[in-house]
Amino acid sequence: MNDPRLPLWVTPAKDEPAHGILIRLAERNGIESSTRIPRMTGLNLSRLRLGRGVDRLAAIIKCDVAEIMHSTPVVSENSIFVRGEDVGSKRRGGRPIRRLCPQCVSESAHHRFWYDLEFITTCPEHGRNLVHTCSCGRDLSWDDVRISKCRHCDDGDVALIPGTPVDPDITEMDRWVLGRLGVGKPEPFPLFDQMALCHAQHMIGMIGILEIKGYEERWLRPQDLEESDSEVRARGFRVLKQNQLDDVLDRVYEGFRSSRSYMPETIKNAYGWFGDWVEDLRSRSLAVHFGEILITNAARKFQIKEKELRRVPHMKQAPAS
Ligand SMILES: [Zn+2]
Ligand SMILES: [Zn+2]
Repeated sequence: MNDPRLPLWVTPAKDEPAHGILIRLAERNGIESSTRIPRMTGLNLSRLRLGRGVDRLAAIIKCDVAEIMHSTPVVSENSIFVRGEDVGSKRRGGRPIRRLCPQCVSESAHHRFWYDLEFITTCPEHGRNLVHTCSCGRDLSWDDVRISKCRHCDDGDVALIPGTPVDPDITEMDRWVLGRLGVGKPEPFPLFDQMALCHAQHMIGMIGILEIKGYEERWLRPQDLEESDSEVRARGFRVLKQNQLDDVLDRVYEGFRSSRSYMPETIKNAYGWFGDWVEDLRSRSLAVHFGEILITNAARKFQIKEKELRRVPHMKQAPAS
């Protein structure tokens, strides 16, 4: 299939997904309207973003389907997978915003699949926050026909966008996530290395909430906090990476003592929502890891009742059948 109207092909670049290739194909052939490429090729960008139609794209640019699929998300049941990792629900996968790292794009003007992952907000390699606007100030979108600018201006270029301060904790967390996806060096994090990425993100976020809010009787969601979701997770990531959960629990307990001193000292009371959460964790290894830290912390402060010791997961306890 060699369309004379698309005389110039492109070769998939590193970490480039199918939908990114489509924009580059328009760019390479000097096409100025986002509607022309679908008309000429029968390819639809929003379908490509879910891994559909990649065989057709591969035929057009004469390359191996597997090479494109390696960096293209696919939908399976209700989840989106990329490189074998569950990266979140399909419902949240329809992100209309196009984001990028200006520095990556000035080095090579192509899209990277990980720019689309909601839970990644920085480029660890360049220490930059991802941006979703063109240098002209308008939003980047999937209707653009140039990687490095929006479709509205003539001389915009994301390379001109100045850097903004990055939160080093967020960059560290993003570096771990990207390492799991085969981008950059893998960063071992044994506690979560066996867990699906989207579940690990949730767990890490809960520890972030505990660190930020301290003692709370009721469960909170990251959205209930003033900090952004990625800040909340990054705080949890740092606590877990640096083995600081015991110190955090000391602060949670202090919060209980100062606000609920009339209540009896039990794990359920003294650590607010965290005790119940640990009991209910589906991952046995994670429940035992947190349970051990919880019991050790509580044992330094009060006599733990036999009934509670049976409930909180820990190493000496027989696994529930
Ligand atoms: Zn970058
Ligand atoms: Zn622009």
